[in-house]
Parts: sequence; structure tokens; C-alpha cells
Amino acid sequence: MTKPIIVANWKMNTLADQARRLVRRIVELSAEQHLDSVGTVVLCPPFVNISIVRSELTDTAIELGGQNCWTEPYGAYTGEVSAEMLRAVGCSYVIVGHSERRTIFGEDDEIVLRKMLRAWEASLIPIVCVGETLHQRQMHQTWDVLRRQLGNIAQHQDRSRAWVCAYEPVWAIGTGIAAEPEQIEQAHLYLRSFLDGHGCSHVPLIYGGSVNANNAAEIFAVPNVDGALVGTASLVAESFVAIIRASHDAHRTTT
Ligand code: PEP
Repeated sequence: MTKPIIVANWKMNTLADQARRLVRRIVELSAEQHLDSVGTVVLCPPFVNISIVRSELTDTAIELGGQNCWTEPYGAYTGEVSAEMLRAVGCSYVIVGHSERRTIFGEDDEIVLRKMLRAWEASLIPIVCVGETLHQRQMHQTWDVLRRQLGNIAQHQDRSRAWVCAYEPVWAIGTGIAAEPEQIEQAHLYLRSFLDGHGCSHVPLIYGGSVNANNAAEIFAVPNVDGALVGTASLVAESFVAIIRASHDAHRTTT
């Protein structure tokens, strides 16, 4: 495993006090276990709690990210938040194309590309989510879906632009049932060669979908897995820090 990147997606969870308690505990446990020396950890709280979390991250190596952004820098887009605004409150990352954005809010590949370009304009590192639904997998369309979701993104590649690709099979998100290691291995092999073939060998490839403290080590042992995007388990500091620790152990055994 290369230097791991572990991303917490808190989704629409945590009131202000809960966010403060959660980040404090993550910082405390990470420090106790000396986990801030390898790889990257990114917390993506709800927008309204970003500043609270940021104030608790002073003097730590943990980074901040937004869960989404709009395609324009400012203007009459009621209810939206721009990449520039995220940057201004201390974010360095932003998640784009999460399956919940695609399915619940109807975002298509074109919007995802525009958000990615906007994130770059604002000097943020986009974390771009791709993945097939259960129906698409059962219809043997997984590779077509991944190719389509990454197709227009690949055309805008430039080695100077950092981004992270997150493989998140939709059927494994929030279900408590992660993809099997063999399924992750096949998908990551496919995506790795797609990315390498499009000038993106520098792009880390992380897995998301019901990663938890119990299955993290097995998932991090899969070839071409460079980290994880974690939803449910990131809301419990002990579980999230156990996942970070598993990524460090996996990194250590391969270097
Ligand atoms: C996610 O929201 O990206 C995610 C992977 O959630 P969970 O870990 O709960 O499956």
C-alpha cells in the first residue's frame, strides 16, 4: 500500500456539540496511538460544522474537506456552497459525485466534472466517487459504468492536478455489507489500469462501502487499494481511528 488516505464522510450527521466531541476524540486517540506520521486523514463534516472542527484540528496533521460544492465560485445559487468558500474556511479536499448526490439530487457525470474543475480552480483536491448499482452489477455493466463515469474526467487530466478516485459500489454504501475482497480487487485493478492509461498514475485509488474496524485490515491488504472513504464508521471515533491504524499497519507491511 502507498501512503494511505483515509477520508471520513460524516454526511448529514452531528449537531455542533457532537461534531466538537467527535473531532476531539479522534485527535486524542490518534495522538495516543502516534497515528499522524503516515499518510493523510481527511474529515468531511457538514458545512455548518466545518469551522468548529477546524478549530479543534489546529496543530494536528488531520485535513478538512467539504462533502460537496457547487460548480460556480459565487452568485445566485441559493442553498449552495462554493469550492472557494470551502477553501476559505480551511478545507483542502472536497468530495464530488458521491452516489447520494447522484441518486437523490440527480447529479450527472457532466456536473461532477464541472465540480471537479471548480475544485481545482479553488486549489482544492477533489475526491471523485464512482461506482455501480446492484442492478448494474447484476447486468454485468460494472466496467461500462466505471468507464462512463471517469470518461470525461480522464479527458481533462493533467499531471499537475491532484485528485483522489474513490471506488464506491452503491450497493455497499451504508448497508453494513462491504464488497468482497475479490470484488474490490477486480474493480481496483480495472480502475488502476484505466487511470494509468489516461495519465493518472499519480491518482490514489481508495475504496468506500461499509468499511469498519473489523474489515479494514482485509480491505487494505487488497492490491491497488490506497485507503478508504468511510461513512458510518467515521461517526465513532474508536472505529475511525482503528481504521486509520489498520491503514498504517498495511502500509508498514508493504514498505
Ligand atoms: C460513504 O458515505 O461514502 C460510505 C462509504 O458510507 P458507509 O461507510 O456508511 O458505507
